[in-house]
Amino acid sequence: MKIARRGADLRELLEGSRRARKTIGFVPTMGALHEGHLSLVRLAARRADVVVVSVFVNPLQFGPDEDLERYPRDEEGDLAKLEAEGAQVTFFPALQEMYPEGADVMVHAGRLGTILEGAHRPGHFDGVATVVAKLFNLVGPDVAVFGQKDAQQAVVIRKMVRDLHFPVEIVVGPTRRDADGLALSSRNAYLSPEERARATVLWRALRAGAARLEAGASAADAERSVAQVMGEEPGVETDYAAAVDPISFGSPAAGGPVLLAAAARVGGVRLIDNLVVERTLDRGTG
Ligand code: AMP
Repeated sequence: MKIARRGADLRELLEGSRRARKTIGFVPTMGALHEGHLSLVRLAARRADVVVVSVFVNPLQFGPDEDLERYPRDEEGDLAKLEAEGAQVTFFPALQEMYPEGADVMVHAGRLGTILEGAHRPGHFDGVATVVAKLFNLVGPDVAVFGQKDAQQAVVIRKMVRDLHFPVEIVVGPTRRDADGLALSSRNAYLSPEERARATVLWRALRAGAARLEAGASAADAERSVAQVMGEEPGVETDYAAAVDPISFGSPAAGGPVLLAAAARVGGVRLIDNLVVERTLDRGTG
Protein backbone atom coordinates (compact mmCIF):
# COMPACT_ATOMS: atom_id res chain seq x y z
CA MET A 1 0.00 0.00 0.00
CA LYS A 2 1.25 3.45 -0.87
CA ILE A 3 0.82 6.43 1.42
CA ALA A 4 0.49 9.98 0.14
CA ARG A 5 0.53 12.96 2.47
CA ARG A 6 0.41 15.69 -0.13
CA GLY A 7 -2.03 16.28 -2.96
CA ALA A 8 0.81 16.43 -5.49
CA ASP A 9 2.14 13.03 -4.32
CA LEU A 10 -1.32 11.55 -4.55
CA ARG A 11 -1.72 12.76 -8.14
CA GLU A 12 1.66 11.29 -9.03
CA LEU A 13 0.79 7.95 -7.41
CA LEU A 14 -2.45 7.73 -9.36
CA GLU A 15 -1.03 8.90 -12.68
CA GLY A 16 0.02 5.42 -13.77
CA SER A 17 -3.39 3.95 -12.96
CA ARG A 18 -5.07 6.71 -14.85
CA ARG A 19 -2.85 6.25 -17.88
CA ALA A 20 -3.60 2.51 -17.81
CA ARG A 21 -7.32 3.45 -17.80
CA LYS A 22 -7.86 1.79 -14.45
CA THR A 23 -10.94 2.96 -12.58
CA ILE A 24 -10.46 4.61 -9.20
CA GLY A 25 -12.69 3.91 -6.20
CA PHE A 26 -12.55 6.30 -3.26
CA VAL A 27 -13.56 6.00 0.41
CA PRO A 28 -13.25 9.22 2.44
CA THR A 29 -12.98 8.71 6.22
CA MET A 30 -11.95 10.49 9.40
CA GLY A 31 -9.94 7.47 10.58
CA ALA A 32 -10.16 5.39 13.78
CA LEU A 33 -11.26 2.78 11.28
CA HIS A 34 -13.69 0.02 12.16
CA GLU A 35 -15.50 -2.74 10.31
CA GLY A 36 -18.04 -0.20 8.92
CA HIS A 37 -15.28 1.71 7.14
CA LEU A 38 -13.59 -1.50 5.99
CA SER A 39 -16.86 -2.80 4.50
CA LEU A 40 -16.89 0.34 2.31
CA VAL A 41 -13.29 -0.32 1.25
CA ARG A 42 -14.37 -3.82 0.16
CA LEU A 43 -17.33 -2.39 -1.70
CA ALA A 44 -15.04 0.09 -3.48
CA ALA A 45 -12.71 -2.77 -4.45
CA ARG A 46 -15.63 -4.57 -6.10
CA ARG A 47 -16.54 -1.45 -8.07
CA ALA A 48 -13.13 -0.16 -9.16
CA ASP A 49 -9.61 -1.34 -10.08
CA VAL A 50 -7.73 0.84 -7.59
CA VAL A 51 -8.97 1.82 -4.11
CA VAL A 52 -7.95 5.10 -2.49
CA VAL A 53 -8.87 5.74 1.16
CA SER A 54 -8.45 9.16 2.74
CA VAL A 55 -8.02 9.69 6.47
CA PHE A 56 -8.56 13.29 7.50
CA VAL A 57 -10.30 14.71 10.57
CA ASN A 58 -11.94 17.71 8.93
CA PRO A 59 -12.14 20.66 11.34
CA LEU A 60 -14.61 22.46 9.08
CA GLN A 61 -17.39 19.98 9.86
CA PHE A 62 -17.08 20.27 13.65
CA GLY A 63 -18.96 22.95 15.58
CA PRO A 64 -17.13 25.09 18.18
CA ASP A 65 -18.48 22.98 21.08
CA GLU A 66 -17.96 19.61 19.39
CA ASP A 67 -15.36 16.89 19.84
CA LEU A 68 -12.70 17.90 17.27
CA GLU A 69 -9.86 17.90 19.80
CA ARG A 70 -10.70 14.54 21.33
CA TYR A 71 -11.86 12.81 18.12
CA PRO A 72 -10.06 9.41 18.15
CA ARG A 73 -6.93 9.23 16.02
CA ASP A 74 -5.00 6.03 15.30
CA GLU A 75 -2.79 6.45 12.26
CA GLU A 76 -0.77 3.30 12.85
CA GLY A 77 -3.84 1.11 13.42
CA ASP A 78 -5.61 2.62 10.40
CA LEU A 79 -2.66 1.95 8.10
CA ALA A 80 -2.40 -1.67 9.31
CA LYS A 81 -6.13 -2.26 8.71
CA LEU A 82 -6.04 -0.70 5.24
CA GLU A 83 -2.94 -2.66 4.32
CA ALA A 84 -4.67 -5.89 5.43
CA GLU A 85 -7.76 -4.93 3.43
CA GLY A 86 -5.69 -4.48 0.28
CA ALA A 87 -6.33 -0.76 -0.31
CA GLN A 88 -3.76 0.44 -2.84
CA VAL A 89 -3.39 4.07 -1.74
CA THR A 90 -4.02 5.88 1.54
CA PHE A 91 -4.17 9.67 1.55
CA PHE A 92 -3.23 11.13 4.95
CA PRO A 93 -3.15 14.88 4.34
CA ALA A 94 -2.03 17.42 6.93
CA LEU A 95 -4.36 20.28 7.78
CA GLN A 96 -2.34 22.76 5.67
CA GLU A 97 -2.63 20.48 2.68
CA MET A 98 -6.44 20.55 2.73
CA TYR A 99 -6.77 24.14 3.94
CA PRO A 100 -3.78 26.12 2.72
CA GLU A 101 -3.17 29.47 4.38
CA GLY A 102 -5.99 31.86 3.55
CA ALA A 103 -8.33 29.22 2.04
CA ASP A 104 -11.88 30.49 2.50
CA VAL A 105 -13.88 29.32 -0.53
CA MET A 106 -16.50 26.80 0.52
CA VAL A 107 -19.28 24.64 -0.84
CA HIS A 108 -22.72 25.43 0.54
CA ALA A 109 -24.68 22.24 1.05
CA GLY A 110 -28.02 23.91 0.28
CA ARG A 111 -31.42 23.16 1.84
CA LEU A 112 -30.60 19.53 2.65
CA GLY A 113 -27.74 20.77 4.77
CA THR A 114 -30.00 22.81 7.04
CA ILE A 115 -32.52 20.22 8.29
CA LEU A 116 -32.28 17.40 10.89
CA GLU A 117 -28.54 16.88 11.46
CA GLY A 118 -27.91 20.24 9.81
CA ALA A 119 -30.34 22.01 12.16
CA HIS A 120 -28.53 20.56 15.18
CA ARG A 121 -25.06 21.03 13.73
CA PRO A 122 -25.12 24.37 11.88
CA GLY A 123 -22.48 24.49 9.14
CA HIS A 124 -21.70 20.78 9.48
CA PHE A 125 -22.78 19.81 5.96
CA ASP A 126 -21.10 22.85 4.39
CA GLY A 127 -17.91 21.56 6.01
CA VAL A 128 -18.55 18.03 4.75
CA ALA A 129 -19.40 19.18 1.21
CA THR A 130 -16.33 21.43 1.10
CA VAL A 131 -13.86 18.76 2.16
CA VAL A 132 -15.43 16.09 -0.06
CA ALA A 133 -15.29 18.46 -3.05
CA LYS A 134 -11.59 19.08 -2.34
CA LEU A 135 -10.95 15.35 -1.97
CA PHE A 136 -12.83 14.55 -5.19
CA ASN A 137 -10.64 17.09 -7.01
CA LEU A 138 -7.45 15.63 -5.54
CA VAL A 139 -8.35 11.94 -6.04
CA GLY A 140 -10.41 12.18 -9.24
CA PRO A 141 -12.41 9.02 -8.45
CA ASP A 142 -14.76 7.22 -10.83
CA VAL A 143 -16.72 5.86 -7.88
CA ALA A 144 -16.92 7.14 -4.29
CA VAL A 145 -18.39 5.04 -1.48
CA PHE A 146 -20.24 6.41 1.54
CA GLY A 147 -22.06 4.71 4.42
CA GLN A 148 -25.81 4.62 4.98
CA LYS A 149 -24.96 5.21 8.66
CA ASP A 150 -24.66 8.90 7.71
CA ALA A 151 -27.77 8.88 5.51
CA GLN A 152 -28.13 12.65 5.29
CA GLN A 153 -24.45 13.05 4.42
CA ALA A 154 -24.92 10.61 1.54
CA VAL A 155 -27.87 12.56 0.11
CA VAL A 156 -26.02 15.87 0.53
CA ILE A 157 -23.06 14.44 -1.39
CA ARG A 158 -25.31 13.02 -4.13
CA LYS A 159 -26.92 16.44 -4.46
CA MET A 160 -23.56 18.20 -4.58
CA VAL A 161 -22.31 15.80 -7.26
CA ARG A 162 -25.43 16.43 -9.32
CA ASP A 163 -25.60 20.20 -8.83
CA LEU A 164 -21.85 20.84 -9.32
CA HIS A 165 -21.37 18.22 -12.09
CA PHE A 166 -18.71 16.11 -10.40
CA PRO A 167 -17.98 13.18 -12.77
CA VAL A 168 -18.23 10.56 -10.04
CA GLU A 169 -20.69 7.81 -9.22
CA ILE A 170 -21.85 7.71 -5.60
CA VAL A 171 -22.38 4.29 -4.02
CA VAL A 172 -23.83 3.85 -0.54
CA GLY A 173 -22.95 0.80 1.60
CA PRO A 174 -25.16 -0.64 4.37
CA THR A 175 -24.66 0.22 8.05
CA ARG A 176 -22.52 -2.29 9.94
CA ARG A 177 -23.61 -3.03 13.50
CA ASP A 178 -22.48 -4.83 16.59
CA ALA A 179 -24.42 -7.97 17.53
CA ASP A 180 -26.76 -5.95 19.79
CA GLY A 181 -27.63 -3.55 16.96
CA LEU A 182 -25.46 -0.58 17.93
CA ALA A 183 -24.17 0.98 14.70
CA LEU A 184 -20.38 0.91 14.56
CA SER A 185 -18.94 4.39 15.00
CA SER A 186 -15.54 5.81 15.86
CA ARG A 187 -17.34 7.73 18.63
CA ASN A 188 -18.45 4.48 20.35
CA ALA A 189 -14.93 4.40 21.79
CA TYR A 190 -15.94 7.28 24.11
CA LEU A 191 -18.78 5.28 25.73
CA SER A 192 -18.43 3.79 29.21
CA PRO A 193 -19.76 0.21 29.48
CA GLU A 194 -22.97 1.56 31.02
CA GLU A 195 -23.42 4.18 28.28
CA ARG A 196 -22.59 1.56 25.67
CA ALA A 197 -25.56 -0.53 26.89
CA ARG A 198 -27.85 2.53 26.88
CA ALA A 199 -26.73 3.50 23.38
CA THR A 200 -28.52 0.46 21.93
CA VAL A 201 -31.72 2.46 22.48
CA LEU A 202 -31.26 4.10 19.07
CA TRP A 203 -31.52 0.73 17.34
CA ARG A 204 -34.35 -0.42 19.61
CA ALA A 205 -36.26 2.81 18.89
CA LEU A 206 -35.74 2.54 15.13
CA ARG A 207 -36.91 -1.06 15.21
CA ALA A 208 -40.01 -0.07 17.15
CA GLY A 209 -40.77 2.59 14.51
CA ALA A 210 -40.19 0.07 11.72
CA ALA A 211 -42.56 -2.40 13.40
CA ARG A 212 -45.25 0.30 13.45
CA LEU A 213 -44.77 0.97 9.73
CA GLU A 214 -44.80 -2.73 8.95
CA ALA A 215 -48.10 -3.00 10.83
CA GLY A 216 -49.54 -0.32 8.52
CA ALA A 217 -49.17 2.74 10.78
CA SER A 218 -48.42 6.17 9.31
CA ALA A 219 -44.96 7.71 9.16
CA ALA A 220 -46.04 10.22 11.81
CA ASP A 221 -47.04 7.36 14.14
CA ALA A 222 -43.73 5.62 13.53
CA GLU A 223 -41.87 8.85 14.28
CA ARG A 224 -43.72 9.14 17.58
CA SER A 225 -42.86 5.61 18.59
CA VAL A 226 -39.15 6.16 17.82
CA ALA A 227 -39.23 9.31 20.00
CA GLN A 228 -41.11 7.51 22.75
CA VAL A 229 -38.68 4.60 23.04
CA MET A 230 -35.74 7.02 23.14
CA GLY A 231 -37.51 9.25 25.65
CA GLU A 232 -38.03 6.35 28.04
CA GLU A 233 -34.33 5.46 28.27
CA PRO A 234 -32.66 7.17 31.23
CA GLY A 235 -29.49 9.10 30.52
CA VAL A 236 -30.38 9.57 26.87
CA GLU A 237 -31.12 13.04 25.50
CA THR A 238 -32.89 12.95 22.14
CA ASP A 239 -31.84 15.54 19.53
CA TYR A 240 -34.43 14.36 17.02
CA ALA A 241 -36.48 11.39 15.87
CA ALA A 242 -37.80 11.72 12.33
CA ALA A 243 -39.60 9.79 9.61
CA VAL A 244 -38.76 11.24 6.19
CA ASP A 245 -38.51 10.35 2.52
CA PRO A 246 -35.08 8.65 2.11
CA ILE A 247 -34.14 10.78 -0.91
CA SER A 248 -35.75 14.20 -0.48
CA PHE A 249 -35.78 14.15 3.33
CA GLY A 250 -39.25 15.71 3.00
CA SER A 251 -42.53 14.00 3.90
CA PRO A 252 -42.64 10.35 2.86
CA ALA A 253 -44.89 9.54 -0.10
CA ALA A 254 -48.02 7.58 0.82
CA GLY A 255 -47.04 3.91 0.88
CA GLY A 256 -43.47 4.83 -0.17
CA PRO A 257 -40.22 4.07 1.66
CA VAL A 258 -39.54 5.81 4.97
CA LEU A 259 -36.20 6.72 6.49
CA LEU A 260 -36.40 6.62 10.26
CA ALA A 261 -33.56 8.72 11.63
CA ALA A 262 -32.53 9.42 15.20
CA ALA A 263 -29.86 11.38 17.03
CA ALA A 264 -29.23 11.41 20.76
CA ARG A 265 -26.62 12.21 23.35
CA VAL A 266 -25.67 9.35 25.63
CA GLY A 267 -23.46 10.69 28.38
CA GLY A 268 -21.42 13.27 26.52
CA VAL A 269 -21.42 11.28 23.28
CA ARG A 270 -23.61 12.24 20.34
CA LEU A 271 -24.78 9.25 18.31
CA ILE A 272 -26.87 8.97 15.15
CA ASP A 273 -28.53 6.05 13.43
CA ASN A 274 -31.22 5.37 10.83
CA LEU A 275 -33.22 2.63 9.19
CA VAL A 276 -34.99 2.57 5.82
CA VAL A 277 -38.34 0.79 5.81
CA GLU A 278 -39.90 -0.29 2.53
CA ARG A 279 -43.63 -0.33 3.11
CA THR A 280 -45.17 -3.43 1.68
CA LEU A 281 -48.61 -2.87 3.19
CA ASP A 282 -50.31 -0.17 1.15
CA ARG A 283 -52.28 1.15 4.08
CA GLY A 284 -49.95 3.99 5.01
CA THR A 285 -51.46 7.44 4.88
CA GLY A 286 -48.04 9.00 4.45
P1 AMP B 1 -16.34 8.80 9.25
O1 AMP B 1 -14.95 8.29 9.44
O2 AMP B 1 -17.20 8.72 10.46
O3 AMP B 1 -16.37 10.15 8.57
O4 AMP B 1 -17.02 7.82 8.22
C1 AMP B 1 -16.44 7.57 6.96
C2 AMP B 1 -17.43 6.79 6.11
O5 AMP B 1 -17.73 5.56 6.77
C3 AMP B 1 -18.77 7.54 5.94
O6 AMP B 1 -19.22 7.36 4.61
C4 AMP B 1 -19.65 6.84 6.94
O7 AMP B 1 -21.01 6.90 6.58
C5 AMP B 1 -19.13 5.43 6.88
N1 AMP B 1 -19.48 4.67 8.08
C6 AMP B 1 -19.34 5.07 9.37
N2 AMP B 1 -19.84 4.15 10.21
C7 AMP B 1 -20.33 3.15 9.44
C8 AMP B 1 -20.99 1.91 9.72
N3 AMP B 1 -21.25 1.52 10.94
N4 AMP B 1 -21.35 1.13 8.67
C9 AMP B 1 -21.09 1.52 7.39
N5 AMP B 1 -20.48 2.68 7.07
C10 AMP B 1 -20.10 3.47 8.07
